[in-house]
Amino acid sequence: MTEFELIETYFRRGAHGPSVVLGNGDDAAVFRTDPGFETVISVDALIAGQHVPSICSPQGFAARLLGRGLSDLAAMAAEPQYVLLSLSLPVLQTNWIEQFAEKFHQLAVQWGLDLIGGDTAKGPLAAQVTVIGRVQSGRAISRVGAQPGDQLWLFGSDLGGARAYLEVLNGSCDGNLVWAERYWRPQPLVSQGLALSGRANALIDISDGLCQDLLHILRQSDGPLSVDLDSGVVPLAPGLIESFGETRAMEMALTGGDDYCLLAAVPEGTDVPPDGVCLGHLHLADTSRITIDGLPLPPEWSLGWDHSR
Ligand code: ADP
Ligand code: MG
Repeated sequence: MTEFELIETYFRRGAHGPSVVLGNGDDAAVFRTDPGFETVISVDALIAGQHVPSICSPQGFAARLLGRGLSDLAAMAAEPQYVLLSLSLPVLQTNWIEQFAEKFHQLAVQWGLDLIGGDTAKGPLAAQVTVIGRVQSGRAISRVGAQPGDQLWLFGSDLGGARAYLEVLNGSCDGNLVWAERYWRPQPLVSQGLALSGRANALIDISDGLCQDLLHILRQSDGPLSVDLDSGVVPLAPGLIESFGETRAMEMALTGGDDYCLLAAVPEGTDVPPDGVCLGHLHLADTSRITIDGLPLPPEWSLGWDHSR
């Protein structure tokens, strides 16, 4: 199968939406932007052997790839619209590509993403998705802008599950089905992000670990902010405490990456989407600081995923 046939067979599917002027198949895609809206765009890479095991299921690869991108749109309170897929494939294993494409299209439809283009090359298994969405003008929620007195809300569940699954992958424990689910099928919180539009002062998704991503919010406000986290409300993945003990379970939940939950700084008294928990309040401080139940973070915790690893 040639590259051209591959693209035709697997990646050009169906009709595009009405705002697409030129879709997949030309040198570049063209879409119409809507008056009163702004475009939100983000790109994410998924590299086999680096971000996922070098041998991985096509469905899992597709779900993690799109999940990451969608979570970035969720974290801006944006409505998903388009996606571009750049794919590097080792050898043409038709079976793998077919299943990957199937899952990719299924999720794209589910999340309202129109695949308007991409690139296909031969090389080590890796992919990048560029996701494009829209917000009403001025309504994107940045990670900058948290205010003293804001409540810190967490949306999402099973914290630490994706981190714990790494222990399953390296063979150190049997694990729990929910962990595999969290790792291979992240659930981007797009509707929660949209529901926070006009309500949250700052919003971020947890990709590198709760504490590390929270520090971005605390540091990027007008003055340094501190927060004391209530560990009792942290929604831990099932089985974490049983497998790793209470302290390590909390470390995994607060520093593990790939959870794709949302953290929002919201003025007290604001209605927030259901299924969130309030982790604490933000206070003006001499330096940005996170404590847990009144105690400093254990010094041996490394705060989150380091991309240079
Ligand atoms: P060009 O050489 O102009 O970059 P390509 O041969 O790379 O064109 O791609 C042909 C068309 O197929 C383009 O419209 C491109 O956007 C689309 N395309 C290529 N690979 C993919 C892919 N993996 N997913 C979706 N569309 C793709
Ligand atoms: Mg190309």
